[in-house]
Amino acid sequence: MPSELDSTRVVETVEPHNFPPLPPGASFQDIDSESGSEDGSDEEDWDAILAASEAAFSQDEADAMISFLKERGLFAFVKHYVEVHQMPIPKVLLAFGVLIPPEASLQDQLRVLKVTCSRVLRARDKLEAYNTVDDAVALIAKSKKILVLTGAGVSTSCGIPDFRSPTGLYARLKEEHWELDDPQQMFDLPYFKEKPNVFYSFAKEIYPSNFVPSPCHRFVKMLENNEKLLRNYTQNIDGLFEQIGVKRMLNCHGSFATASCLRCRTKFPGSAIEADVFASRVPLCPLCTAIDEEKAKNAPPPKKSPEKWSANSKAFEDDDEDEMGFVSEWEGKPLVKPDIVFFGEMLSDEFDHRLLEDREEVDLLIVIGTSLRVSPVSQIVSHLPHSIPQILINRDPVGHANFDIVLLGDGDTIVKHLCSKLGDSFNLPAPPVPAKLEGLVAESEEPKVEEEVIPERVSESHVWLFPGANREARWVQLVRQAYEEGEENEEDDTSDLQRATEGGLRVPLTEGGSRSRSRSPEGVVEGASEEKRVRLE
Ligand SMILES: [Zn+2]
Repeated sequence: MPSELDSTRVVETVEPHNFPPLPPGASFQDIDSESGSEDGSDEEDWDAILAASEAAFSQDEADAMISFLKERGLFAFVKHYVEVHQMPIPKVLLAFGVLIPPEASLQDQLRVLKVTCSRVLRARDKLEAYNTVDDAVALIAKSKKILVLTGAGVSTSCGIPDFRSPTGLYARLKEEHWELDDPQQMFDLPYFKEKPNVFYSFAKEIYPSNFVPSPCHRFVKMLENNEKLLRNYTQNIDGLFEQIGVKRMLNCHGSFATASCLRCRTKFPGSAIEADVFASRVPLCPLCTAIDEEKAKNAPPPKKSPEKWSANSKAFEDDDEDEMGFVSEWEGKPLVKPDIVFFGEMLSDEFDHRLLEDREEVDLLIVIGTSLRVSPVSQIVSHLPHSIPQILINRDPVGHANFDIVLLGDGDTIVKHLCSKLGDSFNLPAPPVPAKLEGLVAESEEPKVEEEVIPERVSESHVWLFPGANREARWVQLVRQAYEEGEENEEDDTSDLQRATEGGLRVPLTEGGSRSRSRSPEGVVEGASEEKRVRLE
């Protein structure tokens, strides 16, 4: 089955426009041109596209095609126009203002079509009907098929390190001088095969154990109890949603529930490697080890005897001076890896199938505790029907998506606030305390009188600040500025509002997806990329 998404391979998407180069002659209006509209050839290209586009479709026809794509998704769009209606791809592309030379290969045509559709899908128009915290409460109250997308932010209050914050796992890996060019290498498969001991020296910190679910986990459980949860797509590998009993969920990035031998692919229960994880040892496959030992008996004496189930990682020393002839001590060993998805690995087919099914049923999207930086999960937001309302609950704004209601701040505080407005059926139950922790956390879980939180609205916008919000984020300032300028100058507020809701990023089409020409102000574009760099460092 073709994928709804660009690719189900896991990558961190730093820039939203990381697409492969296009064949010569292809043009996306002038959105990626750094030269600006003063360039004469640019104007000629544009005139040619506009003329061809107008000859092929009326504005209404082009708008209808764009609406079809945004509502029904990429898969249905290609099926409808290319397969059923037999429309040539170069003609389909004209509806989006993209001109491709007719001699381009079918492969190139399909590639340009996919890239173009992805760009259109990323330019979601905010639904004007939903703006306030009360709107969010009303949406949750009336919705029956809520798709929840969760990330590390829902678990940070449980003491599980997140990955990208200043005190997160990556920052600590850097600080503690592990020999990683990039902290992400810890979740890089080739690196794991070479130095599995690095992963296993940190694995216990993210292993699902010794943690109590947060109010965010309990909120998702409440949605399920109230028969409102379509599915929880979580990027987390900490097992806390399972611990609290959420059934309708998908572990997009796998879990520690099972582990597999990288050589013979045998799956073991996660408990088989638990002792090794806590002892920072690299587990080896007992089946392959037995075969290796058998072979060794019948072969001339080996240089080194095979390891037992576990090898001592402390014995490992990297010898930089011997880099040229360096062979990893783990080379050829039957390494066992938990079935969490590493960078560069594909997500399971289940992810694709579920998403195709769920997009037909979903009536509300709630994103909690993720900055949507890791693809393909981050693409879920743009691939659901655009008429489905979207709510963000996160400490930081997510500039590259266009949510209808943005609730910034500490996730636990925000969901508690929402639950208090949702009535008795949303009374967050006390979390089950793991046997190991009994007595340790009992006191902190004593019910205490919570002060009522009063969220602060950013001007008259759809953005609300709760305690813990990143108030200084440039995106928040842009929204405030846009709305305040809008009040001063009612006549000319469209571009400012649009700029703010776009998060300062360029989008391929103007609001509504029409073919008229637009470009975000350069100053805002530069500012946004600056902020990106700062956050990455
Ligand atoms: Zn094996």
